[in-house]
Amino acid sequence: MHTPVSAPGATLGILGGGQLGRMTVLAGRQLGYRFHIYTPEKDSPASAVADASTVAPFDDTAALQTFAKQVDRVTFEFENIPATTLQHLEATTIVHPQSQILRTCQNRLLEKNFLKRAGFPCAPFAAVHSPETLAQAIDIIGTPCVLKSTEGGYDGKGQVHLKTRPADAAQIWHSLDAPRAILEQWVDFEIECSVICARNEHGQITAFPVAENHHHQHILHSSIAPARLNPTIQKNATDLALAITQNLEIVGILAVEFFVTHDAKLLVNELAPRPHNSGHYSLDACLTSQFEQHIRAVCGLPLGATDLLHPTAMINLLGDLWHNGHPPNWNILLNDPKIKLHLYGKRTPRKGRKMGHFCISDSDLEQAESKAKQLFKELNQPN
Ligand code: AMP
Repeated sequence: MHTPVSAPGATLGILGGGQLGRMTVLAGRQLGYRFHIYTPEKDSPASAVADASTVAPFDDTAALQTFAKQVDRVTFEFENIPATTLQHLEATTIVHPQSQILRTCQNRLLEKNFLKRAGFPCAPFAAVHSPETLAQAIDIIGTPCVLKSTEGGYDGKGQVHLKTRPADAAQIWHSLDAPRAILEQWVDFEIECSVICARNEHGQITAFPVAENHHHQHILHSSIAPARLNPTIQKNATDLALAITQNLEIVGILAVEFFVTHDAKLLVNELAPRPHNSGHYSLDACLTSQFEQHIRAVCGLPLGATDLLHPTAMINLLGDLWHNGHPPNWNILLNDPKIKLHLYGKRTPRKGRKMGHFCISDSDLEQAESKAKQLFKELNQPN
């Protein structure tokens, strides 16, 4: 059964107050939506641009109830929200994406089991919950491999890379400090890429152009669109991402991250049921951004065209660029009239914290990438 459309003018509730929520609000404003942020964080990047905010923990059922009454429907902007919070809200309001999809995508074991059962390719993995099961998993998966906590980890947090068989599995297990984990084969990939899809309740489905992704220390550093991959790999990645989106029957955005192996095989690394860092390029480079598309999908509107207007390089700006609390010299970027600078309004820079990003478009992709790299190098010099 279709729920009614929430037409422009409606109020969308967003769980989470980070930069993804902020950019969703900014995109949705253009369509005339109003926004209410629910977050445990005071002064959040999303609250700063929203119409209303509730600052309360995700398990505060009374606050959730009041929030649900004040909004027309609810979505979320990051995965580490208890699925029970969404379930609670689903009893009284419309929630997209659905709680069971969040539950699957926020738990690496459930996610990998879903992919395996549905026949989508991913690296071999085994469930681990003790030193003994870790030792058994290493026997099955082999080394190199990576131990990942099933929940709560992101940007490489909650991961231990094992190059060789450890002498002491118990010590490795305890260093992870998580109750459950998966052991995953280390993939000697050629490159990483991602495809961001959207599906609305009417079953309409779209994909953004494939982005090529480069990580530093497990954190996304840059995304390049279009990806420099042969057309067959791009088509296969897009078809796989669309098939996963369809299979999950998600309403909203689904980001699908892939490893591309040296023999041109695609392995799904991760799914994210929300706008994704590797899709930030769409804000400056596509007819419809991933944030607008998310709102369209969640509110039951027709989806927008995802055409890439020009080749674009996106680079993340982490807290590492701040020296002794001082921001980098933004004029390095602002003096170039073609650079689009996005800052998330976070007051406290920390190592690894995503503070902003910039995009540069050029008819020549190589040109865009080399300029972006050069400017990033300049930004990195203490001023
Ligand atoms: P994740 O949080 O699982 O997406 O991991 C972050 C990044 O770590 C990935 O984008 C890869 O660059 C790297 N990584 C994670 N798992 C693997 C793996 N099994 N093989 C090789 N690299 C990996």
